[in-house]
Amino acid sequence: MSVQAYDENNIFGKILKGEIPCHKVYEDEHTLAFMDVMPQAPGHLLVIPKTGSRNLLDADPAVLARLIPVVQKLAVAAKEAFEADGVFIAQFNEPAAGQTVFHLHFHVIPRREGEPLKPHTGKMEDHAVLAEHARKVRDAL
Ligand code: AMP
Repeated sequence: MSVQAYDENNIFGKILKGEIPCHKVYEDEHTLAFMDVMPQAPGHLLVIPKTGSRNLLDADPAVLARLIPVVQKLAVAAKEAFEADGVFIAQFNEPAAGQTVFHLHFHVIPRREGEPLKPHTGKMEDHAVLAEHARKVRDAL
């Protein structure tokens, strides 16, 4: 089956266009990072390229080459900010693999020994908590 086309009318496309808000953690010319509104653990954030692709399968390798160093930078900062023991990086391609938003994104999830992950796309976190968590990661950058 062929790869489906990117549709910019997705929720992350709308965040990039400034049509809906986010708890921003990091931004540069090519990349945006913000808190996941349904975190699987405290500090769960998402890193997206500003260039649209549906997921990893149709992404331009040049976009990926710019994106991964930012994923790394944010993983290090989130680990420090949340005094985590490790960091889980996740990325889903197509609904069969668990993808629900069709703009390429990497999940960065700080993990602590013995603390189980909450469900994917589970409960919405309070905005005050997300704002505080975004500040903590920004401070660690
Ligand atoms: P997935 O496409 O399955 O890799 O996951 C999409 C992620 O986006 C989920 O973890 C959602 O909790 C998260 N999400 C959905 N809407 C928003 C939003 N408006 N702001 C931040 N995160 C979101």
